Amino acid sequence: MPGCAEAGEFRAPVSRRALNEYRWFCLPHVREYNASWDYYKGMGPDEIEANLRADTSWQRPTWPLGRLGGNSRIDPTLLRDPLGILRDTPLHAQRAKPPERHEPPPELRAALDVLDLGWPLDQALLRARYKTLAKQLHPDVTGGDRGAEDRFKDVNRAYSLLRQRLAAPATGDSRPASAAE
Ligand SMILES: [Zn+2]
Repeated sequence: MPGCAEAGEFRAPVSRRALNEYRWFCLPHVREYNASWDYYKGMGPDEIEANLRADTSWQRPTWPLGRLGGNSRIDPTLLRDPLGILRDTPLHAQRAKPPERHEPPPELRAALDVLDLGWPLDQALLRARYKTLAKQLHPDVTGGDRGAEDRFKDVNRAYSLLRQRLAAPATGDSRPASAAE
């Protein structure tokens, strides 16, 4: 920091596009720098807007409440009920029907869970979700936290699997799982 005589012992990334390049500061100044650090620097207004919107909805598409089936019944396949609390409710009766429309291919389920994504999925959504997570979990941001590091590895693996799969879908993959039984 110009005019500061303290030793520069704390690093901070230069910019969003250069998260691996650092400036070095004393502690008070690195705090000041980080506080005013602008992730959106260099983005146009549209890009910032898109980024903010995607972040507030966890990179998922949004729609107004009450539309697109929002008033209809809860899809029982979306409920996890490991204790059987809903066993005797009408929801359970619904559960017996085979509503396989949005079932992901079984081998992709774990990867989708890691990224907290639903199915079906497209490239743009996958990429956006990955970007958000990578931003949060990057070692330069988490300061080498072990848990974050492991999670980042899982995220990378899941992303790479899903990306390959979306680029070259397996044949017959659009068919519901029950049709294969
Ligand atoms: Zn300083």
